[in-house]
Amino acid sequence: MIYDDFFSDALRRLHDEQRYRIFIEIERIAGQCPFAVWKTPSGPRRIVMWCSNDYLGMSQHPRVVQALTETATRTGIGAGGTRNIAGTNSPLVELEHELADLHGKQAALLFTSGYVSNQTGISTIAKLVPDCLILSDELNHNSMIEGIRQSGVERKIWRHNDMAVLERLLAAEPSRPKLILFESLYSMDGDTAPVNRICDLAQRYGAMTYCDEVHAVGMYGPRGAGIAARDGAMHRVDVIEGTLAKAFGCLGGYIAGSHNLVDAVRSHAAGFIFTTALPPPLCAAATAAIRHLKSSDSERQRQQSNAARVKQVLAEAGLPIMPTSTHIVPLMVGDARLCKEASDLLLNEHGIYLQPINYPTVARGSERLRITPTPYHDGMLIDRLRDALVDVWGKLRLPFVPAAAAAE
Ligand code: PLP
Repeated sequence: MIYDDFFSDALRRLHDEQRYRIFIEIERIAGQCPFAVWKTPSGPRRIVMWCSNDYLGMSQHPRVVQALTETATRTGIGAGGTRNIAGTNSPLVELEHELADLHGKQAALLFTSGYVSNQTGISTIAKLVPDCLILSDELNHNSMIEGIRQSGVERKIWRHNDMAVLERLLAAEPSRPKLILFESLYSMDGDTAPVNRICDLAQRYGAMTYCDEVHAVGMYGPRGAGIAARDGAMHRVDVIEGTLAKAFGCLGGYIAGSHNLVDAVRSHAAGFIFTTALPPPLCAAATAAIRHLKSSDSERQRQQSNAARVKQVLAEAGLPIMPTSTHIVPLMVGDARLCKEASDLLLNEHGIYLQPINYPTVARGSERLRITPTPYHDGMLIDRLRDALVDVWGKLRLPFVPAAAAAE
């Protein structure tokens, strides 16, 4: 048997479906956000990043870098093991306090990524609630779906953001424990959940709520706690899950909730117990980022105004952006091959990096370029982006839309 054939067959299928992923090699330049160096086969080339989830450029903020380097110099890099066998390093404890405070909860628990926090957090919580029924928004992230699968409990899916369907499902099981799972901000379409209305239903039908704020933490609310905070609903959500890897510019994930819930997850979750804890310097860096964004609103404001400007400028040029109320600007292509070609042309001919977003990240036929402006994409860069996109749209004969329709 030639085992390697299985793998080459799997790769061929991906190529046939236009789903084979190619990563470009880059090196970002601290202090020069959003610029990076693209390592091309013919040598390095300076490019502009337009697709990073380091939404506020905090990964290179001097205070964040300083916290990391100072802590690394003092304590070394690695945590030295799982928290069960090697103890809990102070920067992790401090970060958990910071996160609990950010979300107004009694406690918080760190995981090695946002993905792991959903997967292991959801599965553990659902398993600890007897006869739990999970009600999950149909667009929930893969990490949440894997958490549901791992829990083994019954789950029902409600149509995206459809409160009537959610209510029907809740009403059908009046006396059963129920866990409602949703995201506050859906990162591919850039829309938000009606957090207060979900909490109203949860209250009426006796359900628990679990909200993924991964794309909203640092970005919304007066202290950067997310959409639930912005909407005055944070205290109504039982469990808030977030990441340290996007607006906070580091790595790691967490849940925040009541003492008992967090302690029970800490004591039962395999994905917490059996893996090495986050490096302490990274936790110190995340704490610095969170603290900074608790008191500084200027990054959020500049990011929002740049995102609004990108939407306006691209809409005026007749580019088919999907209208959103958030910092994410999806530009629709609707074809996997063309999406990849558009991305290649932008990079090769204009030095603009926008990764194509294809199936399974989005549904087939809704392939897109996902634009994430930072506070540092100024008017000149935005105009250059527009000109490059107009050029690429023309070369690939992609459809323009009437400016008014795009701006709706
Ligand atoms: N939840 C959502 C909605 C996400 O989009 C992602 C990743 O992009 C995650 C969780 C995982 O977070 P992390 O990148 O920290 O693993």
